[in-house]
Amino acid sequence: MKLAVYMDNHATTQVDPRVLDAMLPYFREEFGNAASRNHVFGWKAEEAVEKSRKQVAALIGAQPKEIIFTSGATESDNLAIKGVAEMYSERGKHIITCLTEHKAVLDCCKKLEKQGYRVTWLPVEPSGRIDLERLQAAITGETILITLMYANNETGVLHPVSEIGRIAHERGVLFHCDAVQAVGRVPVNVIDENIDLLSISAHKIYGPKGVGALYVRRRNPRVQLTAQMDGGGHERGMRSGTLNVPGIVGLGEACGICQREMAEETIRLKGLRDRLKARLEASLDEVYVNGTMEHRLPNNLSMSFAYVEGESLLMGINDVAVSSGSACTSATLEPSYVLKAMGAGDDLAHSSIRFGLGRFTTEEEVDYVAGRVTEVVRKLRELSPLYEMAREGVNLKNYQWTAEGQ
Ligand SMILES: *Cc1c(COP(=O)(O)O)cnc(C)c1O
Repeated sequence: MKLAVYMDNHATTQVDPRVLDAMLPYFREEFGNAASRNHVFGWKAEEAVEKSRKQVAALIGAQPKEIIFTSGATESDNLAIKGVAEMYSERGKHIITCLTEHKAVLDCCKKLEKQGYRVTWLPVEPSGRIDLERLQAAITGETILITLMYANNETGVLHPVSEIGRIAHERGVLFHCDAVQAVGRVPVNVIDENIDLLSISAHKIYGPKGVGALYVRRRNPRVQLTAQMDGGGHERGMRSGTLNVPGIVGLGEACGICQREMAEETIRLKGLRDRLKARLEASLDEVYVNGTMEHRLPNNLSMSFAYVEGESLLMGINDVAVSSGSACTSATLEPSYVLKAMGAGDDLAHSSIRFGLGRFTTEEEVDYVAGRVTEVVRKLRELSPLYEMAREGVNLKNYQWTAEGQ
């Protein structure tokens, strides 16, 4: 086994060697511009792009023409949300989203709020999922867009997407879904699930960084967008800019592999994830899974280790790459806004670790990680007076702390 162990596959994934092989010719001899219409270099590039468009579309049950290539899911989210907001502003200026969305979605909505749109920020249940009745109640005649993610990047919790799509369509509201973590890991179908716009990123599914896609529905209804990037009119005018041909080829190949291997891969990942969970729960007390296990990505385990500070745990297991609940918002030491929205107290949010398993994770690695985490949590708890007190039966919630000067 090679150290360090990578178990942070919600942040990014290793490029699959088959994806890299598919890309390489488009850096070398097939370097044409897909928009060059009058020579073979352009034609070959265009052919490769169209093949990828089919592969991406097939994975989500869409038509190739409905796929717009972008620089990644951050751009896809921006294009979907701002593009719809601008295009449909005459119809209404109300958008519904959720507190646990990715920053790319949250910050688009915040910006629109500053520009005079009204945004409803739905809370989540302790399970991590939204309450559909609250969603129903939030929709008004002014609502133009519901933007809710498929699977959360921290907890792996899946929203009830089919029901959300059904509600959106019944009420004549567009539904954008950030499906970055879900596509390629669980079956996604934009028709069955009534999704109108859907964001994808290559580097979360063993493809290259800096390339993604936005699905934009063309029928029932035909969704229109105001372009956020003006220029040569590429991608049906929705996203100008010379196409990243090697990247797009990589995205297509990554989607093709997911489509062929997802069913089997899911079983394997779920087995490894459950093994990790079982080992941690067997060797440590006071560990808590964040969010529902029932509706969750097969490769995610988000766990809080009471009486342990997530960042200290991360430093202790420095040969294991995982994320803590406070690491996502980088420089700050704010506890995870996702876990807080689920009702976790600051202490448990601070003590959370996100394990993201992936295609290249082995059983040996899982066992190693379980062992290292156990060892470090035990060590940190030995140093924790709070853990000591809790074990002696002191109820810390009602404990009268003696303030300074008393
Ligand atoms: C990673 C991620 C994004 C951003 O994707 P990029 O391609 O890195 O811009 C958006 N949403 C979710 C849920 C993600 O996990």
